[in-house]
Amino acid sequence: MNIEGVLSHARSLMQRVVRPGGNAIDGTVGNGNDTLFLAKLVGKNGRVFGFDIQQQAIQNTTSLLEENGVADRVTLFQRGHETLTESLPQETHGKISGAMFNLGYLPGGDKTVVTQPETTIAAITQLLSVLEKGGVLCLVIYPGHEEGALERDHVLAFAKDLDQSKVHVLQYGFINQKNNPPFLLAFEKK
Ligand code: SAM
Repeated sequence: MNIEGVLSHARSLMQRVVRPGGNAIDGTVGNGNDTLFLAKLVGKNGRVFGFDIQQQAIQNTTSLLEENGVADRVTLFQRGHETLTESLPQETHGKISGAMFNLGYLPGGDKTVVTQPETTIAAITQLLSVLEKGGVLCLVIYPGHEEGALERDHVLAFAKDLDQSKVHVLQYGFINQKNNPPFLLAFEKK
């Protein structure tokens, strides 16, 4: 397929904005795949801040980062992403180039622990305040499960109302796939 899928497109956007030596955020580390991707982009002089509420996710991510020799450039918080502003060091505020949020539940984990509209929206609001100008947040939404559909509705309603003079918001996803496929919302701070 020549058209980029949703997750690949999110990664392409990160590759455009996250530079060696920069700062990035993984808002839902899960099994650590996106955290590892971002850790490679920031390089040995950069920093990634990762959030997840589940101990299992923090453990899985720590192991993956250690296996790949990049654990020293990542700070993991076993906390909700809605604590983002208070958790990040003050000196990084306004200096975050890229952020990824892969919503829903931990693959292979407890499917009853899912991201929630209220905390997701709180985290987006905080992220928009700590991103640098031109910085990008990629949010992948999974409306194929009941709570995911609710999250889609709330997050879309919130995102459509954001002031276009302050932030660009783009929606990217397949429209002819069955069973409510995931889609991307990309936010760029102006
Ligand atoms: N990006 C991950 C990867 O590459 O494996 C997958 C993330 S998974 C789809 C979603 C994760 O969000 C779960 O691990 C879940 O524990 C986490 N989560 C749920 N609510 C959260 C919250 N308020 N803050 C941070 N993480 C949360």
